[in-house]
Amino acid sequence: MRRDQERDQCRSARVDPGADRFPSGLYDAVLLDRDGTLVEDVPYNGDPEKVRPVPGAREALDRLRAAGLRLAVVTNQSGLARGCFTAHDLRLVNARVEELLGPFDHWAICPHAEADGCACRKPAPGLVHEAAAALGTTPTRCVLIGDIGADTAAAAAAGAAAIMVPTPATRAAEVAAAPTVAADLPDAVGIVLARIRLTAAPQPARRGTVLVVRSDAAGDVLVTGPGIRAVAAGAQRVVLLCGPRGRAAAELLPGVDEIIEAPLPWIDAPAPPVDPDAVRALTDRLAEVRADEAVVFTSFHQSALPLALLLRLAGVPRISAVSDDYPGSLLDVRHRVPAGVPEPERALSLAAAAGFALPDHDEPALRIRTDRLPPPAADAGAPGYVVLHPGSSVETRACPEELATRVVRVLGAAGYRVVVTGGPDERDLTARVAAAGGVDLGGRTGLDDLAAVIAGAGALVVGNTGPAHLAAALGVPVVSLFAPTVPFGQWGPYRVPTVRLGDAGAACRDTRATVCPVPGHPCLSAVEPGRVLEALRLLRVPAPVAGGVAG
Ligand SMILES: [Zn+2]
Repeated sequence: MRRDQERDQCRSARVDPGADRFPSGLYDAVLLDRDGTLVEDVPYNGDPEKVRPVPGAREALDRLRAAGLRLAVVTNQSGLARGCFTAHDLRLVNARVEELLGPFDHWAICPHAEADGCACRKPAPGLVHEAAAALGTTPTRCVLIGDIGADTAAAAAAGAAAIMVPTPATRAAEVAAAPTVAADLPDAVGIVLARIRLTAAPQPARRGTVLVVRSDAAGDVLVTGPGIRAVAAGAQRVVLLCGPRGRAAAELLPGVDEIIEAPLPWIDAPAPPVDPDAVRALTDRLAEVRADEAVVFTSFHQSALPLALLLRLAGVPRISAVSDDYPGSLLDVRHRVPAGVPEPERALSLAAAAGFALPDHDEPALRIRTDRLPPPAADAGAPGYVVLHPGSSVETRACPEELATRVVRVLGAAGYRVVVTGGPDERDLTARVAAAGGVDLGGRTGLDDLAAVIAGAGALVVGNTGPAHLAAALGVPVVSLFAPTVPFGQWGPYRVPTVRLGDAGAACRDTRATVCPVPGHPCLSAVEPGRVLEALRLLRVPAPVAGGVAG
């Protein structure tokens, strides 16, 4: 077919598959959209004379090159399919782009029209997969910079990071849904380099016992995993202090030698009263650890300082934590993190500030100890099902029941086997949802059983809640019904193929509300179940029952 020949001709052969891997870090490569991102958007441009780089593009790209990052262009060029220009014109335009902006290590080009239904036209993730493979890396080690929602969606569906640089033509809803937004291309490049710097640390000297702390729920503990693994790489022994709601997740974290479980009333919400005897008992218990140092992980709205005081009373000689508040003599390493950094990177950056780095072979992704998982529930059936987890401990982040029920029906009709999961207090909910055509495992899965069920799934459909991070830790794609009460860029599924659904610009945005501030849960209730089906197709999750079931 002529179009395929053209595509092959358009792709650069400059890639050296045996080339060196980059030094360990967050990213190996930066993928860039062309029109509207690298150069001014001239619709269906086949004329090299009309190529105009965006301001500061050459210098910004050279900064990335100097940092050892590889660069690829990922671009939809449906003008080829439409006959607006020829493959020869496209080559001349791309050559002019390189003349002005310097060389790219790969060009990934979709020559198809939207109606072709190809796997490469963004928002499909095909170009991201192609570019990563051509650069000798994986999508999770790439960050994509683009100007519209199709760019960020393609990156997310491949498990890559994304930064949006909107133009005046970018739709507001797409800007709202982007994980990270930059003012211009040089700003986006600055964010990439800052994140790499923030999480990099020199290989530390071996330390003795390090006490790490992460209070709060399972998801909070899971996203801290990369930071804890970094500490473990430089410590003889790691003791983790966690709360009761995070205990089961803590049991699954690699690198943890011992767990101390205690609630921290200044962290929990709703917060129990402070019990002086319990605080004294905790201080004594912490003193028994005889830690050489402590690293106190928190999320952006929590304070590490009350615990730092207890750690001082317990005789811990070196304490590291993030604190915007003046810590006085409570912290030895006072770390600060810019807003918007993903929670796992925030944890890694604190570990780095304390002198701990992940070893080269340890990808900075979420991980759990799969050797500790029980066999999955037999009712779930053969692997390849879709898990739907409708509930959440926080009302604002749950999938509305009516939507969950319709999703089960639509996925069943399309041939997917759906397994519905939920906690012991969600049995009624999961029974009603599963009645639409799914297997009900509600109330029958502890966190480890739930992980075992998710491990066998083709994908997880879930709100912004703990199981999303379990899926990320297991490499299982996520259809994220993400209520925007907290920033998606900080709390979205990390380094795993993801499709985000829901109204990112809803009134609850960034409120951290636990009860919907707007009646009817509008950020999620307006999602059409067919969008979940589209998401599964974008994520290339096959329906195990060929042809589907009518209904
Ligand atoms: Zn294509």
